[in-house]
Amino acid sequence: MIQTTGWQSYKDELINRINWRDVYGHLTGIREYGDERYSAQCPFHSDGENSFAFSNKTMKWKCFAGCGSGSMFDFIGRVEGKSHIEVLTQLGEKYGIAKPDTNNTLSGEQNAPLKAKSVVAEYVYTDEVGKPKHKEIRYEPKTFRQERYIDGE
Ligand SMILES: [Zn+2]
Repeated sequence: MIQTTGWQSYKDELINRINWRDVYGHLTGIREYGDERYSAQCPFHSDGENSFAFSNKTMKWKCFAGCGSGSMFDFIGRVEGKSHIEVLTQLGEKYGIAKPDTNNTLSGEQNAPLKAKSVVAEYVYTDEVGKPKHKEIRYEPKTFRQERYIDGE
């Protein structure tokens, strides 16, 4: 097991370790057309020519017909219908790379900070003479909190 220090080093380790054939090898019409560059028929649209390109160095891909571009993790996720984190986990297990022991977020795609609760309403309950007894504060997402008014305050 290789230990990594964060998501970036985890991804780098996978990119170094994985052969492009394991990611892009199933594509049709693969041709090497330059330094570390390959083209193929795009798997995301009905492609009559080689609109799809990838690098065997960075493992990034791009479709010049407009299907998008991204990392090999995006590519695998799109082909297999998996989330980014599922792809990362699956590859780490397959290639013997331990997930980083960190709470680092996955460059914002994951563990998005929980939305701060916001007060959407305040209800003040009063007694017969109009003196406030307690206040109910409604938050979104739904929780309630009651604040008591203490006599004399
Ligand atoms: Zn395409």
